[in-house]
Amino acid sequence: MNILFMGPPGAGKGTQAERIVSEFNIPHISTGDAFRLAKSQGTPLGLEAQKYMDQGLYVPDDITIGIVRERLQQPDCEQGFLLDGFPRTTAQAEALDEIMKSLGRELNHVINLKVDRDLLLARLTGRRICKSCGSTYHVMFNPPQVDGVCDKCQGELYQRTDDNAEKVGTRLDEYVTKTAPLLEYYEAKGILRQVDGEKEIDAVSQEIQSLLRGKA
Ligand code: ADP
Ligand code: AMP
Repeated sequence: MNILFMGPPGAGKGTQAERIVSEFNIPHISTGDAFRLAKSQGTPLGLEAQKYMDQGLYVPDDITIGIVRERLQQPDCEQGFLLDGFPRTTAQAEALDEIMKSLGRELNHVINLKVDRDLLLARLTGRRICKSCGSTYHVMFNPPQVDGVCDKCQGELYQRTDDNAEKVGTRLDEYVTKTAPLLEYYEAKGILRQVDGEKEIDAVSQEIQSLLRGKA
């Protein structure tokens, strides 16, 4: 099953992806995670991506497309994958079509998580992530049992440097101008499904699973 998660920053893509990939046993491919890893390792890719990420801007298409092209060719993607945070521009969506065609595959589901802008701001500024396993929490909406400590691996939780009110504004603007128009692109292909991302985390997961299993 080849799945795409769409939705603005903070819509819950990463949170839901964690659950869906363990349920369907497919790799979770997040371009944001890939850039953050490269950044923490100080690779040339990471240093280049950092220039844009630190401002809340999108990383240029050629860099981003190159990463996804390489990743989708790995053997663990043969049984399917979940793409989270890519494509974010029309050029990326067209490149993905071309990559899928060259691999003789097609996208099965595009799930759009819908969440209002005010709620996104609250979600992003309260987000905390585990340094060790990458699990996502929220200080109010999904708190860990012990403040600052991951429930799953006892790792330390941190706040992303771009999860502050100023950067969030720029990131949401990038989404509105460059990514929201892509919904029409997938609507026209007849594979776009809308999910209310404002419901509780478990309720959203159930709705997504029903859609993926063809029960909704
Ligand atoms: P995205 O990957 O789309 O940027 P995340 O999955 O990281 O979004 O979620 C952003 C924040 O919102 C996190 O702190 C997460 O714990 C919280 N969150 C995610 N889904 C929900 C939900 N359905 N209800 C309340 N909070 C949520
Ligand atoms: P995310 O973790 O999905 O919120 O992404 C964090 C940041 O990484 C974004 O604000 C962008 O700077 C960059 N990024 C992630 N995915 C993409 C993409 N598909 N295109 C351009 N930039 C991206």
